[in-house]
Amino acid sequence: MLEASPNPTVDAARARLVDAVDLAREAIVAEAGDHVGEHLRAVAEDECSVTHYFVADQPGYSGWNWCAVLASSPGDDHITVSEVALLPGVDALTAPQWVPWAERIRPGDLSPGDTLAATEDDVRLVPGYVSSGDWDGLRRDVDFIDAAQEIGLGRKRLMSWFGRAEAAERWTAGDHGPYAEMAQSTRQHCASCGFFIPLTGSLRDLFGVCANEYSADGRVVHIDYGCGAHSDMKAPSGEGSPAYPAYDDGAVEIVDPR
Ligand code: SF4
Repeated sequence: MLEASPNPTVDAARARLVDAVDLAREAIVAEAGDHVGEHLRAVAEDECSVTHYFVADQPGYSGWNWCAVLASSPGDDHITVSEVALLPGVDALTAPQWVPWAERIRPGDLSPGDTLAATEDDVRLVPGYVSSGDWDGLRRDVDFIDAAQEIGLGRKRLMSWFGRAEAAERWTAGDHGPYAEMAQSTRQHCASCGFFIPLTGSLRDLFGVCANEYSADGRVVHIDYGCGAHSDMKAPSGEGSPAYPAYDDGAVEIVDPR
């Protein structure tokens, strides 16, 4: 949109720039060859420059525009080509916005041989010399000393309360939580299973590791998760499936309907 200027000399200079469509096209052709389509519009940038937009008529650039910025001083007939550029239009096909890898990475992306270092400000971790905020059944902080006593070594960083809460949420909603299809299909739960090895610290109340190689072996399971391999599961009575009585075809009398 070209707005009128209180200075008639400026208006005249702008009018010359707006009329210089051929000069703008020539400048773009010198850069892009013959891939310049119809003239779209002229846009005033300031008092002495105007940008001309053309359709970019070249394969792979649908919706893009060539533009040439022309400039001239008020009172001077000479026009300068300041810049030529290829720019995406509103409907242009462009690359998705770049996202740093640290924000792109998702659970399950880690493969053998990959390294994934926690950042310095990772809220899931706290330095090992401060209180982790964790508590056991007596609501006593489980700190560095507790952890060190437990494994015989000190660790530089421990999981924060936030990190533990996030993990608890993930595990509860995950494949080995109380809402998983497996858990919903049994009345036997991990809390009473001999294969269930409780975690330590505050997570102990709700989570443990399954040590049954035929079930969720090595996975963190919720106390309300469960499966058909529970340690108290009764063996079938010999009639086949515990859910349905066996079909004994020796006890069936065959009757001819005729
Ligand atoms: S065997 Fe089944 S019930 Fe027992 S701990 Fe493992 S998943 Fe839980």
